[in-house]
Amino acid sequence: MSIHSTKQEVARRRTFAIISHPDAGKTTLTEKILLFAGAIQIAGSVKARKASRHAASDWMEIEKQRGISVASSVMQMEYQDCVINLLDTPGHQDFSEDTYRVLTAVDAALMVIDAANGVEPQTIRLLEVCRARNTPIITFINKLDREVKPPLDLIQEVESHLRMDVVPFSWPIGMGKQFAGVFDVQLDRMRLFQSGRDRRPEQEDQTIEGLNNPELEQKFGQAFLQAREEIELLQAASPAFDHEAFLAGRQTPVFFGSAINNFGVQEVLEALVKYAPAPGPRQALERTVNPDEGKFTGVVFKVQANMDPAHRDRVAFVRVSSGQFNRGMRLKVSRNQKEIRPNNVVSFLSQRRELVEEAFAGDVIGIPNHGILHLGDVLTEGEVLHFTGLPFFAPELFQAVEVKDPLRTKQLRTGLTQLGEEGAIQVFRPVAAGATLLLGAVGQLQFEVVIHRLKTEYGVEARLMPARFTLARWVTADDPKVLAKFLDANAAQIAYDVVEAPAYLAGSPAQLRVVQDRYPDVQFHTMREHG
Ligand code: GDP
Repeated sequence: MSIHSTKQEVARRRTFAIISHPDAGKTTLTEKILLFAGAIQIAGSVKARKASRHAASDWMEIEKQRGISVASSVMQMEYQDCVINLLDTPGHQDFSEDTYRVLTAVDAALMVIDAANGVEPQTIRLLEVCRARNTPIITFINKLDREVKPPLDLIQEVESHLRMDVVPFSWPIGMGKQFAGVFDVQLDRMRLFQSGRDRRPEQEDQTIEGLNNPELEQKFGQAFLQAREEIELLQAASPAFDHEAFLAGRQTPVFFGSAINNFGVQEVLEALVKYAPAPGPRQALERTVNPDEGKFTGVVFKVQANMDPAHRDRVAFVRVSSGQFNRGMRLKVSRNQKEIRPNNVVSFLSQRRELVEEAFAGDVIGIPNHGILHLGDVLTEGEVLHFTGLPFFAPELFQAVEVKDPLRTKQLRTGLTQLGEEGAIQVFRPVAAGATLLLGAVGQLQFEVVIHRLKTEYGVEARLMPARFTLARWVTADDPKVLAKFLDANAAQIAYDVVEAPAYLAGSPAQLRVVQDRYPDVQFHTMREHG
């Protein structure tokens, strides 16, 4: 049992995601954060774990072959007196939908930027999602041990692309082979760069105090003089750190470092603990849910199949919104009032899947199930609640899908329904008689993963065929009669998704515009929020 009250437990939680363009150093930084928090002893084990998972799990082959991370995962650790929940996100843009949903489950984000490349396209997209939710962001500019862009240019890029005020907490002195370290602007001291991959924090500290300390100039010459000029320039030009502005997503503290060398990582971790928010209230349609209220509530933000290949189960990832989860407690699914009593709920402590005894707001628990839990489901102790905000995006790519052996049509439907509920792909059932099921995706790779998984998990050989549609819009109308009439008149273009929400499918933007003009009382949505 916890020695803290629920209120204290909530206050010490920090739940965040690391986001970046692929290759910026997200995996490396994750690993170093775990190392600093003492969650792992040897750097390299995150990658090693990834590798062993690949070996064990068949469909992850695809991931291995392409060297990308398909699955998101969750890691919990303690640092100082805080409980940190770190949610990993897939970097590949084909899986960005998954990432967007993970971002609905965090209270802050850590953005990693490759200092040689600056702000990259995927970073911008992810940042847009964060901004839409006012998620506070801490920025880590990585790879200063390489020849990179001048730091002032990087700062300006972040500022202009992300439309956010940048407050440098540290500033690099030199770069590449001449990288000497970073100057901690807040503490007014320089921390000297040491290379090395697996050093622990206690070995880390070599500092020189004071921006005006002559020792700095003696030791680092021109590189230091230039850095000092830039720091003075910034101190005059950029705003002071304002905690409220950070929490509102208007200001981002920036740190420089080199993740692979374990340099600058601790500052980031400390900023997260000190400045990132504890879990706050969440708005349900019915009422505001406060994190420290007595009763448990949680939301399924991700469903993943077969994490453990020995069991053909699915794991629903639930972010706790309030109260306390205890093993064996009865929970109700708001969507259909079904009761579940999960016993083998897992937490993700120190990267091992362990049985969870208790969990509080901000924590993520994994509930193995056989399809009872869907994306967006709300779990409570009995009250019916709906949260909005779990986004589904209108697919941009479509393929018709057909089973090679007609006797396995039922298995195809089962497989696609489950994969659709999981959010791996969107499945549409056209109204038109005799039409095959349609798959909709945001990225091409999603199709390949689904075909592979249909084969390995459901024993279905499916084949993809071109579809005549290029875009979809979910349709609603204030007046149900207007909607019914629209659906009827356009049946050839209508399909239903896994939760039976109707969508209008078009072959071209022009076709969509025509129908939008013809039906001004029908709303066409590019995004569907669950709930
Ligand atoms: P991810 O795709 O964002 O998860 O990126 P990874 O963490 O896998 O890193 C991509 C590549 O950059 C790998 O080869 C890392 O070894 C390398 N890398 C990460 N951090 C640094 C760094 O600080 N300096 C240098 N030179 N390379 C780094």
